[in-house]
Amino acid sequence: MKYQRPKGTADILPDEAVAWNYIESTAKKLFDNYRFHEIRTPIFENFEVFSRSAGDTSDIVTKEMYDFHDKGDRHITLRPEGTAGVVRAFVENKLYGPEHIKPVKLYYTGPMFRYERPQSGRLREFHQIGVEAFGSESPNLDVEVISMGMHLLKKLGIHNLKLVINTLGDQATRKAYRSALIAYLEPHFDELSEDSKVRLHKNPLRVLDSKDKDDQKLVADAPSILDYLTPESASHFETVKNLLETLQIDYQVDASMVRGLDYYNHTIFEIMANDKALGKGDVTVCAGGRYNGLVEELGGPETPGIGFGLGVERLLLLMQAQKAPLPTISPLDVYVVGIGDETKSETLKIVETIRNNGFSTDQDYLDRKPKSQFKTADRLNAKIVITLGNDELAQKVVNLKVMATGDEQQVKLEDVYDNFPKLFGKFLKK
Ligand code: ATP
Ligand code: MG
Repeated sequence: MKYQRPKGTADILPDEAVAWNYIESTAKKLFDNYRFHEIRTPIFENFEVFSRSAGDTSDIVTKEMYDFHDKGDRHITLRPEGTAGVVRAFVENKLYGPEHIKPVKLYYTGPMFRYERPQSGRLREFHQIGVEAFGSESPNLDVEVISMGMHLLKKLGIHNLKLVINTLGDQATRKAYRSALIAYLEPHFDELSEDSKVRLHKNPLRVLDSKDKDDQKLVADAPSILDYLTPESASHFETVKNLLETLQIDYQVDASMVRGLDYYNHTIFEIMANDKALGKGDVTVCAGGRYNGLVEELGGPETPGIGFGLGVERLLLLMQAQKAPLPTISPLDVYVVGIGDETKSETLKIVETIRNNGFSTDQDYLDRKPKSQFKTADRLNAKIVITLGNDELAQKVVNLKVMATGDEQQVKLEDVYDNFPKLFGKFLKK
């Protein structure tokens, strides 16, 4: 029998893992500048955490969740997204308390799970980098979060970015718009897709988000939410737009954008990148918005929140397509060639000593002939090659070659052990 990874999952091999680490560490450094701190929450949560927050008419909850009953008959879900778990943790750990400075700014990275039809940039296990900020309604925070997302993508070398924003207003806005949308869609009930028929009365905004072509045609002429904004909502949105202009961040308003999760209100946004190499039009890499009712929904005190999620696989595809710089596995500092069985314990001591000094070092473990060991050193791109044979061992020296210059010298073993960084560190600068 042949074993294969489950459909929609991927192995991240060492060469690619370097790129992942680079993306994550770049994000972490940037988030630190914005004073967002890391939170790690469980990869599975109780089912209700998601059904309650994402909304039980969302695609995620109705179609895409990996949920099961565990041996104790608890209804468990592998997290399909990061926000709900972070909000659950925010409430459970009372991060709303007075000892926590507001806004509480958090970020996370990790795997998410959705039962979707796998295709390029769409997997069943995928990874997100996400941020959440709690405790401020200020439009400044909306713009900071958006700017941080743009900043990260630019820093990683993505160009042709497009920022699309919309507002879902407040509760009164949603209520008025909901009625208007139902009034518009009802006469077309028979033309709607099955999903949209179900959603029409439960959650008509969902219909705007339908992937069905005929639904999309209908929706094109639907009333615009921008005509139903309360004065407060309109003013929040105006300020967000003005602040984006202040920061010279270009944007487009798409009044039909609603986003996949039910919990959003006020500002929502998507950052897309256009790259023909991916064979499609705009690809959304980063998406988010405000969710002012969510903390309450999960049992906490009324607390506004805003955040985004960024898909790492899609980001990496874009980086590759746009030829953004990506690091590779770092070259080897020192390769130690041992000739003859008698040298084995000494070469082991040498590699361990050099490693203890903070340099990367390797040696032969396969009893290769000297010529083959030198070849290996070459293939590993070693900066320094140290050679130790029986003669050297007897004289307590090694032969040391700096590969960049070809310079060779005899070095006392004692110096390798006691003075390596001082004598040779200059050849190994990172
Ligand atoms: P889509 O409309 O493409 O299904 P979504 O609205 O479901 O996206 P979000 O829930 O907003 O996506 O997730 C934020 C980001 O996470 C997306 O912009 C994308 O980059 C990434 N993402 C979402 N689902 C997947 C997936 N199945 N595989 C890979 N990346 C994903
Ligand atoms: Mg989706």
